[in-house]
Amino acid sequence: MGKAKVIAVANQKGGVGKSTTVYNLGAGLVLEGKKVLLLDVDPQADLTKMLGQRKPHDLKLTLGNVMNEIATGPGWQGHEEILHHHEGFDFVPANRTLSAVEVGLVNVMSRETVLKQYIDGVKADYDYVLLDCRPSLGMLVINALATSDYVLIPVQADYLAAEDMTELVGTVQSIKRQINPKLKIGGVFMTMANGTNFRQDVVTAVRENFGGHLPVLQTVIPSTVRLAEVSTKDKSIFQHEPRGRAAAAYRNLTKEVLEIGGKQRSRSADRSR
Ligand code: ADP
Ligand code: MG
Repeated sequence: MGKAKVIAVANQKGGVGKSTTVYNLGAGLVLEGKKVLLLDVDPQADLTKMLGQRKPHDLKLTLGNVMNEIATGPGWQGHEEILHHHEGFDFVPANRTLSAVEVGLVNVMSRETVLKQYIDGVKADYDYVLLDCRPSLGMLVINALATSDYVLIPVQADYLAAEDMTELVGTVQSIKRQINPKLKIGGVFMTMANGTNFRQDVVTAVRENFGGHLPVLQTVIPSTVRLAEVSTKDKSIFQHEPRGRAAAAYRNLTKEVLEIGGKQRSRSADRSR
């Protein structure tokens, strides 16, 4: 086991498939033999619910408690907040308390690196730590980016030309400059696609808006009922419909994520076409 890679899945738009991606990518990495930790960094707790904790508010110990201890107290020692999922990865759940933590961070010294302090204490046990970000560019997302090696950006077609995307990329760049020099955009990839030629649209839009400097992954996640069902079945797509095209897409995404780092340059936005 090497040094853990920390990957944030971020996009300030909600409903683009961030949580679904964190779950299925996490399960996919386990199937590739990796030790994986998922962190729910969204007070909405969608990932926590997807992973079978249907009443996040009843949880005694969540990421909110842990971050609060680090922000206001002497730090965090335990591991009791880490739960195990039947598909082989570990996860740290969230609930509404995380929202209060985010508000309180404004008054904390080193407020951008509270999550980093936590992750640095646990990541030695893992190959991959995946962070499910809330749909904003607030303090929790800044904390996630401040501790990540890569950010993955799931998008839908209409988002690519949007102001929001420029803002997200700008935030990533300023965090890279000011807080976390190792941060890179691991890739933009399309989710909930209806049709076949979408990747070329993504490549074209990214080139038009960002001059070809953002890597676009090959994987396109289709819009399927099976993937929507994952959020309530407590089963990743690999258990729910292992032979379907959605599982194939998340298997491809998993492979691409395993290659990030090594092939970063050659995938940079298909500049030749
Ligand atoms: P986000 O975390 O970005 O808000 P989610 O992963 O929670 O997005 O997805 C939003 C909704 O869309 C959820 O109900 C989820 O089950 C559903 N969903 C996610 N990905 C897909 C997909 N590829 N096809 C169909 N439905 C999807
Ligand atoms: Mg989500």
